[in-house]
Amino acid sequence: MTRRALIVVDVQPTFCEGGELAVTGGTAVAEAIARYAAAHRDRYALVVTTQDWHVDPGRHFATPPDEPDFVDTWPPHGQAGTPNAELHPALADLAPDASVRKGQYSAGYSGFDGSTGDSRDLRSVLRDAGITDVDVVGIAESHCVLHTTLDAVREGFGARVLTDLTVPVSEELGVQARARMAEAGAELVPSDAA
Ligand SMILES: [Zn+2]
Repeated sequence: MTRRALIVVDVQPTFCEGGELAVTGGTAVAEAIARYAAAHRDRYALVVTTQDWHVDPGRHFATPPDEPDFVDTWPPHGQAGTPNAELHPALADLAPDASVRKGQYSAGYSGFDGSTGDSRDLRSVLRDAGITDVDVVGIAESHCVLHTTLDAVREGFGARVLTDLTVPVSEELGVQARARMAEAGAELVPSDAA
């Protein structure tokens, strides 16, 4: 029997318009995810959020005077304890069953790198709830959605990415990410066909 979880990746103001590492379309995706989750909560045995939650992530943040390369080094973003690292206000009514934070002391592109407040990792959260399949949505498709999805497949979960509920940092990187996820065995489907 399929037991499905919704994984909402890094929907935080820091990655939306006006944030420190803004992705164009982030705010619209946050609002679309909120509408989808409210309308289709009954499809999911579990809803989990992830957040970039950087305390001192070392070389993940560019050190002045070095400029970020936007590959391995980035402007400071998702800084633990700041309002822009909280879940996006559009998700105020989401009421996730579990919240995973990642990247405290190093880069953490995958939700599977993070842990909950009671120190469980995402794999354990999903396994303990009997989850077989996951739908992945959030920001950015080219980075944290990509790596969370690849890890979900690697961990043996059926994985789908809801293509209208995620956004890449650029169209080019989005094309590459979708190819990698499809190659790995993830399904890419629009939310109205999910
Ligand atoms: Zn980060």
